[in-house]
Amino acid sequence: MNRQGHVGLAILAGSAVLYVTPVMPMVPAAVLISAAGIGGLLPDLDHKTSTVSNKLQFSARTRKQLKGLSGLSVGIGILWFILQQPMPWLWLAGGLVLALASRLRMLLLSGLGLLFIAGYELYGLHWLTLLAGVAMLVMPFVKHRGIIHSPEFAAVLSVGVVSFTATQPVLFQALGLGLLAGWWSHLAGDAVTVEGIRSVLMPRLKVALNILRNGSTAERWIARCCWVSSIALWLITFY
Ligand SMILES: [Zn+2]
Repeated sequence: MNRQGHVGLAILAGSAVLYVTPVMPMVPAAVLISAAGIGGLLPDLDHKTSTVSNKLQFSARTRKQLKGLSGLSVGIGILWFILQQPMPWLWLAGGLVLALASRLRMLLLSGLGLLFIAGYELYGLHWLTLLAGVAMLVMPFVKHRGIIHSPEFAAVLSVGVVSFTATQPVLFQALGLGLLAGWWSHLAGDAVTVEGIRSVLMPRLKVALNILRNGSTAERWIARCCWVSSIALWLITFY
């Protein structure tokens, strides 16, 4: 499923959660719905060029140019070194910075991941911090629709989010519930495509219903229906 389908489905899942939970004030309700929309895109952080990954990196063209410039800079650095010209390190360092910029997604994810893990270690934060940190750290290296798309990860994440937000103000609970609703709806959306999703503990256990083609007209219609149903649910919830 692509962005449109995932967002539609996630908003509907969030609206359904909102409908079954006790009445919430407008602000947490809006937070819940928005968090669901974001949660519905987050699992695709494990895809190099998904909508959400593209938010963390330069365009494919710029990435290619950065890589080219990085190679060029390193090349000049080596040449400068051999020719004993002044400051070859400057060129090598420049090359490194350009190479890192071309891998901004990896840099951001691993950096944030390490920060979360450090927060858990140093300040004894909730184990959800450790889970999120490790997930972000491995994200650039795991395969798409692998562990991050597994029901097991979603289950552990759910336990983490629920146990963490249980003691927090209602705004955080709304955020957590929304994220989880979006996350699970993402798995449901992927399960009806050819690629499907699979269990990490039992790799033979795979759900690939092959009902929907990625980015098809049917997906766009499902997205529209989801939005209409969501709005209907909001009206029922609030009036
Ligand atoms: Zn996905």
